[in-house]
Amino acid sequence: MNPAQYCMTSVAPTVAAVLGLPALAQATGAPIPDILADLRGAPRLALLAPDALGLFSFQHFAADMPFLRARCQERMVILRAVLPSITPVNFCTMITGCALAGHGVSSREMTPRCPTLFDLLAQAGRVGAGCGRPGYTGAQLLARLAQLDGTAALPDDAATEEVVLRLARTARPDFIIAQIGGTDDHFHRFGPRSESARPKVCEMDQRLERMCAALTGLGYAVIILADHGQQETGDPGHPGSHGSEADEDCLVPCTWLG
Ligand SMILES: [Zn+2]
Repeated sequence: MNPAQYCMTSVAPTVAAVLGLPALAQATGAPIPDILADLRGAPRLALLAPDALGLFSFQHFAADMPFLRARCQERMVILRAVLPSITPVNFCTMITGCALAGHGVSSREMTPRCPTLFDLLAQAGRVGAGCGRPGYTGAQLLARLAQLDGTAALPDDAATEEVVLRLARTARPDFIIAQIGGTDDHFHRFGPRSESARPKVCEMDQRLERMCAALTGLGYAVIILADHGQQETGDPGHPGSHGSEADEDCLVPCTWLG
């Protein structure tokens, strides 16, 4: 299999097209045809992002991720993160369709200088939710910009899963975007191909499987992608890092479920 490759700027135009929203004027990417063909017209869409689960870590840990591996064998594209390949820049790209020069958000406390998917939803009388751990981009950027604040009750992935599924069951927003932050923390601490990161990768696969089952049962289409990858530094003090234009930092797998 040789999956097609797109830029991270294609994600927001894809979400807008799936949900039948107008195009984002500043977007430099275009809707991804394979995703659009499967998901167009879905009433609701959730975008789940296991932080830093790049293509190289995914391939290294493929045997530990039976759910994500099977989904990617059915449907997959590869996305290239925008630069710098860091979390706030790429999550802002996921909701605006443009790179840093367009949205201007280089840290999670900043506000984009262009409209986001949440603005399109509001104009259409619809609702979006941003979810993630307190203190992380999911809460500090996405939840702050969304109509529904999905800040998790605790700074861990279980609490992020809880808030996503609770909002999906109760408020039923048209769009959910969630940063699931644990993989990035573990890859920084242990290295993106470390044995010590393996349990977290297994846990993430099981979490994604549970979340996808629940969300599709509630009528959501789901897109799974990472914001960036990570590379091994060789420095025992900081074994995993990202931010550069290297493929390890920038290439991420993306799959979807109708
Ligand atoms: Zn990181």
